[in-house]
Amino acid sequence: MRATYSIIVPMYNEEEVIETTYRRLKLVMDSLQEPYELILVNDGSRDRTASIVEGLCEQDSRLRFINFSRNFGHQIAITAGMDYAEGDAIVIIDADLQDPPEVILDMIAKWKEGYEVVYGKRQKRKGETLFKKTTALLFYRFLRSLTNVDIPTDTGDFRLIDRKVCDVLKGLKEKNRFVRGLVSWVGFRQTMVEYVREERFAGETKYPLKKMIGFALDGITSFSYKPLKLASYVGFAVSFTSFVYLVVVLLQKLFGGVDVKGWASTIAVTLLFNGLILIILGVIGEYIGRIYEESKNRPLYIVRETQGFHAEQRAAQGMDSSSHKEAVERERDYARS
Ligand code: UDP
Ligand code: MG
Repeated sequence: MRATYSIIVPMYNEEEVIETTYRRLKLVMDSLQEPYELILVNDGSRDRTASIVEGLCEQDSRLRFINFSRNFGHQIAITAGMDYAEGDAIVIIDADLQDPPEVILDMIAKWKEGYEVVYGKRQKRKGETLFKKTTALLFYRFLRSLTNVDIPTDTGDFRLIDRKVCDVLKGLKEKNRFVRGLVSWVGFRQTMVEYVREERFAGETKYPLKKMIGFALDGITSFSYKPLKLASYVGFAVSFTSFVYLVVVLLQKLFGGVDVKGWASTIAVTLLFNGLILIILGVIGEYIGRIYEESKNRPLYIVRETQGFHAEQRAAQGMDSSSHKEAVERERDYARS
């Protein structure tokens, strides 16, 4: 049987790039001569992204459009794409052509060899600031040292996953989704293809520093609780030092008499420890906040409308259409509960 493919493209204010991205993707996928669908997820863009995609949908029945009611974030947009995807192999790719669509063909070749996850490894990153490259490098090193999950360095969400992997990921209902971590966590036969990450083709990055920090915190907190142990480590170290100092003070008292000095050191110690305690409380807060998020049980995303998911159309193109029905039912369940 011929394989079918789903390509997921998350988009947030990408009016400048969509049309070119669509054409490049179409060119690559048409060359395969196998059924495919392009799932474009509009993550609450405030520009013309939605209307441009709607226009494209009318011309090309292979396009599927998921329009969110507001901005839910990159990782959630990818997740929605997976919920709706019907392909035997699913590819996630950024909208800005930083990940060259041609690499998808290499990924598919690996998939046909029997690999279930093929991630893109960035050999080189063009046009990204030194700051971004350094922080990314440090972050992935740090994450690896904190967790047992083997998240490969220099990879993003540009990857191909098999239907089996997609189904497993769909079953993970956590709200703070760090998709690349989850993909490593689920296992399966994984391999990589190397590629040169291009410059953003047009527009600006949709990941300002604030979002990058939030993303990093999601990554750490969803795979490690080692930061929570900070309190105990610091506690032990401080108790031990205090004990030593206590002995010193006692000896001074017994053999030397005490002269009342040391205001500066008292203040220094007090400030230091208040700072430490607040940091530790903050760390605990990061986790509690996420537990709170999870416990509310709100839906992961809200879809305003979809386009291009008609069962007959999909059947005619050789794509199954059960996932879409499932996704719609799941949303209804959320709404009811
Ligand atoms: N994106 C999204 N929602 C967001 C932020 C980004 O769907 O809230 C999409 C964006 O349109 C792009 C991809 O995620 O397709 C990666 O974003 P970007 O290229 O800006 O990140 P960078 O490559 O600079 O890390
Ligand atoms: Mg980019």
